[in-house]
Amino acid sequence: MSTTDSNIPGNLYAGGAPDASALGKLANEFFAALPGGFPASAGMNPASTGINLGAVGSLPGNAIRDVQPVGPGNQPAAGKNDVLVQHGDPVDLSHPQTALHDPHLATPGRIPESVAGSGISPSAARYKSGADRDKPIGGQPMPYSFESELQELLRAIPTSIPQGQLPHMGGAGFPGSGHASSFYFLNPVFSGGTGIPFFDVNRVRQDFPILKERVNGLPLVWLDNAATTQKPKSVIDRLSYFYEHENSNIHRAAHELAARATDAYEGARKKVQQFLNASSPNEIVFVRGSTEAINLVAQSWGEQHLRSGDEIIISWLEHHANIVPWQQLAAKKDLKLRVIPVDDDGQVILEEYAKLLGPRTKLVSFTQVSNALGTITPAKKMVEMAHQAGAKVLVDGAQAVSHMRADVQALNSDWYVFSGHKVFGPTGIGVLHGKEELLNATQPWQGGGNMISDVTFEHTKYQNAPSRFEAGTGNIADAVGLGAAIDYVNRIGIDLIGQYEHYLLEYATNLLKDIPGLRLIGTAKEKAGVLSFVLAGFRTEDVGAALSREGIAVRSGHHCAQPILRRFGVESSVRPSLALYNTCAEIDRLVDAVRRLKNR
Ligand code: PLP
Repeated sequence: MSTTDSNIPGNLYAGGAPDASALGKLANEFFAALPGGFPASAGMNPASTGINLGAVGSLPGNAIRDVQPVGPGNQPAAGKNDVLVQHGDPVDLSHPQTALHDPHLATPGRIPESVAGSGISPSAARYKSGADRDKPIGGQPMPYSFESELQELLRAIPTSIPQGQLPHMGGAGFPGSGHASSFYFLNPVFSGGTGIPFFDVNRVRQDFPILKERVNGLPLVWLDNAATTQKPKSVIDRLSYFYEHENSNIHRAAHELAARATDAYEGARKKVQQFLNASSPNEIVFVRGSTEAINLVAQSWGEQHLRSGDEIIISWLEHHANIVPWQQLAAKKDLKLRVIPVDDDGQVILEEYAKLLGPRTKLVSFTQVSNALGTITPAKKMVEMAHQAGAKVLVDGAQAVSHMRADVQALNSDWYVFSGHKVFGPTGIGVLHGKEELLNATQPWQGGGNMISDVTFEHTKYQNAPSRFEAGTGNIADAVGLGAAIDYVNRIGIDLIGQYEHYLLEYATNLLKDIPGLRLIGTAKEKAGVLSFVLAGFRTEDVGAALSREGIAVRSGHHCAQPILRRFGVESSVRPSLALYNTCAEIDRLVDAVRRLKNR
């Protein structure tokens, strides 16, 4: 966009950053031009509030709602960057701290009926429940922006940037992208140069082409994120770019494309290292996914170190991927598998865990987030307890990495595993993190090319990690794609994603729990991303099929976690699961569909 474009109010781009008052003027002209203008009820109409729009911004009509209580004591937990602004207060766009937060979301004692541009909450209004009024279940004010609306406006403005070059999240982060855009402030997370981020879900959704799909004539609602996440355009483009410009086998040739592919692959390893806050890229082993990573540890370290009578502890929450490999090893080596029980909310009982730990415990392996219930386990504490007993610890981060910050140094796990496809990356690629010394002291599990430093017919000398555990040609392109997915998450910020999803989780929980006959399975205090339920009188597969007819994708079944579902007396459940691109409007569609089914 040209800085001299006559359609742009003066100085909007002065100095490369939007001028606050010009931006405010632009926004207010736009909102004033909307049908109905500023809703009087919002108290933001310049005419009714006397706000000086030359210097003061406002929010678009559909972002202005009466708001409801959040958090314990109805007081939103104020983060370092949170500024609490009273309803109706002027929002001074020139003030960095107030300009970038939706004051309505940050108002003490009030949260919105609906957030994230999804409009009003028909469910909350219709059923007088849910994201409702007087019964908050905790939470935080949501950062929300009016970027989408502003973007709509800017789309109508003639621009010197050709179509197709408008920035999207994927623009940056891979060779050849190289766009430089004056629209930088329309990224999903915009700090306006202040360092204070906010989250625009409508903008985020534009990065995921598949969300435009229609299913049975209706817009797709993807609530099967615990099974796999959708991919942003940047990841899709990165894969194409690899095959169009870099494809080669790695590490073993002197030619240009081998160098490009090797750089891309090792670059991805570095991104994973930083994503997990691992000490070194050597600690990052690329595997097919969490399942393969756990099997790798079982068949290398477990095979090498565990002896008859040794004990392995897992939790009741585990995915089959963190049960079966240990069971197989236990059967082979006469080991004992012990299981930490959970309470009726699906929370690990630490006292019982403490009782299981002892001198025979050689390994503790547990999930950070349950895929069936959404429970977040007290992982750091559990690692600490295992180490005190002299055991090694594997943490299964498959369901954690897309929702919360993973820090393997802070966690102090010996191994940490996750799958790329659950964090917006490709399928067929995943990560085993292991402490470097431990990896280098562990026998390999597969032999072949790439993992050796010298081979004779009598003897083979192995490489150190990570090559030691990467025999043969790996999934090069998808590792690079995973790097792009991590770039994507980093651009938005995992903390902001977690905060947004937490809000959605509460919103959905409140609405679902009030549906007659619906029983939530898993009501832990600390949860991420998952809402498991059964509906009296309906088979879970029938609920899943009914939702699918309405374009809503949820999983129904045992979620590869039969023991934990049986702990709650069911063989299967319906499991909507959340990601950063879901909205309250989608939750409303889910709730409406379940209610309609129930009332049929
Ligand atoms: N662990 C947990 C907690 C999971 O949710 C899953 C998959 O759903 C896995 C492990 C296995 O992951 P993958 O199938 O990607 O290997």
